[in-house]
Amino acid sequence: MESISVFDIFKIGVGPSSSHTLGPWKAAQLFINSLEADSFNRINIYLYGSLSKTGKGHATDKAIILGLLDFHAETIDSQEIPHIIASVEKSTHLKTKKGNIFFDPTLHIHFVDSFHNKHPNTLVFKASLEGEIIKEEVYASVGGGFVESDSLTRSSKKVSLPYPIETGQDLIGYTEQKTCAISDIVQLNERVFDTEENIEDKIDALLETMLECVYQGCMTEGVLPGGLNVQRRAKGLCHELTGKAEYSNRDEWIDAIKAAPQSFNQINKWISCFALAVNEQNASLSRVVTSPTNGAAGVIPAVLLYYFFFCDYAGKDSVRRFLFTAGEVGCLFKKGATISAAVGGCQAEIGVSSAMAAAGLTEVLGGSAKQALMASEIAMEHHLGLTCDPVGGLVQVPCIERNAMGAIKAITACNLALSGNPDTAIVKLDTVIKTMWDTAQDMNGKYKETSEGGLAFNLPVLMANC
Ligand code: SF4
Repeated sequence: MESISVFDIFKIGVGPSSSHTLGPWKAAQLFINSLEADSFNRINIYLYGSLSKTGKGHATDKAIILGLLDFHAETIDSQEIPHIIASVEKSTHLKTKKGNIFFDPTLHIHFVDSFHNKHPNTLVFKASLEGEIIKEEVYASVGGGFVESDSLTRSSKKVSLPYPIETGQDLIGYTEQKTCAISDIVQLNERVFDTEENIEDKIDALLETMLECVYQGCMTEGVLPGGLNVQRRAKGLCHELTGKAEYSNRDEWIDAIKAAPQSFNQINKWISCFALAVNEQNASLSRVVTSPTNGAAGVIPAVLLYYFFFCDYAGKDSVRRFLFTAGEVGCLFKKGATISAAVGGCQAEIGVSSAMAAAGLTEVLGGSAKQALMASEIAMEHHLGLTCDPVGGLVQVPCIERNAMGAIKAITACNLALSGNPDTAIVKLDTVIKTMWDTAQDMNGKYKETSEGGLAFNLPVLMANC
């Protein structure tokens, strides 16, 4: 049984994609750190499948350079990224900690026009010395920034959790046995991975990153990078809702949101504003919380801030309870189906994030464990079959708006579950997870993050501009 921490599901990183940016970044770091110093003078990287088809738009090549230079996605100054990349491109050299080598991204990063048999998102790294390969490693970027390789499998240590969870039914069983909430069970498992104090710090860091990301998104205007000419909208929406265009700091912005009118339509617009803000930041390679992926990074902050601003916010501990419940639902989908759009389409990204947010919100609004999973089931049920068709291979259209839709569905699912009886619900979460997996396997490959179907296919003029 796989033991996943909720802090593997929620990771601080940079946009635009967890599987196409953060996964390859991590693979490059692992590879460079596995090499002996000065044992090589060339590195070639081969990108297969979805990584090849949408890697340019998803900044996979840039992520690989940053990984080979051993920058950490969690701590890098995202403003510096364009300068670092430009410097490597101009100098055609890579000053890695294991050696300074000739490296021209156009020559040494290969976008291979075929699929690798390991996974739809496969990268192969080859280090060589005077033309002779000295090390080769195959990595799969399996979604949410997770990577797999043979050497990782060999070196991985099994973690035993007090409450091993494979299914929704397991989780409900523990909450009934201990008469407690989902987040209490998750907390007990998390203590195996880290101390209470560190867990608190990590929750604080996640909330701070989400809040800052939304704030920055609401402060920034202009056109997103990539060539699609997508205008940022969060700032205009925020201005419309508060009547104020500029803020001197984040606290002033928070006070303005709290003081703004709160009709149904206005709150509905705020939810969209929060989601758009995150995904506009994500599309411009800024700092976001992967939750459970970057393309879907706006859903959970939008729902969490909906709770923070417009519900009976019960203090910082409720943020921990929200994120633990949501994170555990993300783990269930990763174990029982997939969180990779290259494997399951957008149901695996926006669908999963919506299901996670629905469960988190239900717990903090006083729902039972069964109602939290019922909300999660409802949210995913109405994302089943959702395809991934990013126009121009960029995480912008339809991705940015889709986060607003995922957030709204999560809130509706929560409200239905809070007013419903989970014991009489016809569909259970475990059934919808299995159905999502079956749907993923039946889905045509054109709709699995290849930009070969759907909107991406029907907007060829836009693609040509990218
Ligand atoms: S369409 Fe959905 S899954 Fe595909 S890149 Fe956009 S948000 Fe991610």
